[in-house]
Amino acid sequence: MIPRVRFAPSPTGYLHVGGARTALFNWLYARHHGGTFVLRIEDTDTDRSSADMVTGILDGLRWLGLDWDEGPEVGGPHAPYFQSARLDRYRAGARQLVDEGKAYRCYCTAERLQAERQAAEARGEGWRYDRACLGLSAAQVAAFEASGTPHVVRFRVPDEPTGFDDAVKGRLDFDGAHIEDLVLLRSDGHPTYHLSVVLDDVDMAITHVIRGDDHISNTPKHVLLFEAFGAAVPRFAHVPLILGADKKRLSKRHGATSVTEYSRLGYLPDAMVNFLALLGWSPGGDREVMTRTELVEQFALDGISGGNAVFDTEKLDWMNGQYIARLPIDELAALVAPELLTAVPDAAIDPRDPWLHRLLELLRPRARRLTEFAGQARPFLVATVSYDDEAVKKHLAAPDIAAHVAALVEPLRTLEPFDEAGVEAVVRATAAAQGIKAGALIHAVRVAAVGRANSPGLFEVLVLLGRERTVERLERLLTFLSSRT
Ligand code: GLU
Repeated sequence: MIPRVRFAPSPTGYLHVGGARTALFNWLYARHHGGTFVLRIEDTDTDRSSADMVTGILDGLRWLGLDWDEGPEVGGPHAPYFQSARLDRYRAGARQLVDEGKAYRCYCTAERLQAERQAAEARGEGWRYDRACLGLSAAQVAAFEASGTPHVVRFRVPDEPTGFDDAVKGRLDFDGAHIEDLVLLRSDGHPTYHLSVVLDDVDMAITHVIRGDDHISNTPKHVLLFEAFGAAVPRFAHVPLILGADKKRLSKRHGATSVTEYSRLGYLPDAMVNFLALLGWSPGGDREVMTRTELVEQFALDGISGGNAVFDTEKLDWMNGQYIARLPIDELAALVAPELLTAVPDAAIDPRDPWLHRLLELLRPRARRLTEFAGQARPFLVATVSYDDEAVKKHLAAPDIAAHVAALVEPLRTLEPFDEAGVEAVVRATAAAQGIKAGALIHAVRVAAVGRANSPGLFEVLVLLGRERTVERLERLLTFLSSRT
């Protein structure tokens, strides 16, 4: 059997990491088995759904590289893939169950139901719909209809126990007597989630339902509905919740939750996909950095853990750093070029420039996010650096520091070739001749070169700046130091 899976977001918000992880598991499952990944928009809640949210969800999926085989924009044999365009189908489905005696019209008023519920709660009891309308005679129904009384359609939940074998949680059994006769169609003719989701899964021939385990309590109802429609029950896999580092359900309090926000924050889609794949799934062993192809090859439902997954931002940052380190350098240059230009608008930035590639090679071992490059690259792109006050106080305080730095200028001006080993030898020899520690001179020269107390290795930095700019920056520091006294 070739699997058909679906991701079925409700466009009442952006694509959040939980939804993205569900989409990813479905996508990986489909790609692993050569199946079909369906995208279906569950927009029956017209008040809370919006076209903008749909666009946001599609953009998020595209950014992650999760392409769908059927759904919005690409169409497919089961179009339309928007529930709002399938309302007639749900009404027909409800009618079919009524005709077959598997569902019934209920004319109870909301007021009566609420009063019953409150009375039961006051007695400390739970309340389920009491099936007052289950046994209505044809004459009673006709009278209600004649008086224009609105009705809902309720599913006549079979009394037998029901259950299913969840691919993640194992066997789950439910007592039919405890499930209320749920509403399938509201009085305004709109379907409930239970009716629309099951009819869509039936019509779209979905074989596997992989979704968040917040849906587990809905699943027995769905199993009964699949059976009522005479359809094959799909295999269910309920994936664990994603928690924040404090073990509470992931929410805005924990930081970014929308996938698009992560793209703005400088994460790479491949890193995000790798990270999300490991939220609740593991290939076994301790493998972590895996390409998309490896993820597709390895993905299996039995690798999904039943326990909750923790969203660890530090791990995401680490993972992103791993991907930044592995990115072909011209791709990295193309990705960060726009931000470099924003940071230093008059810099000549050419993403194919070998010098820029060397700069990025120098910076990337310490980078965790793409957004960090602009700040780190700045001293290399500007004409003159400004000196950080703290760095000046800390590294240029020694009374003879100007003389020590000045002693470097000539040897560097004439050094041949101007490479790392040569620069290092000159700096160390000068420090020794001046009777100071090499470290003290290195710190002072770093402030001259980049204006800060921190940078990648100084000798690499100077070589990248080149002889001319190095000498120029040393001389400028000397001017600065002499103006200070
Ligand atoms: N629209 C539902 C949700 O966003 C989909 C549930 C399901 O996958 O069945 O939670």
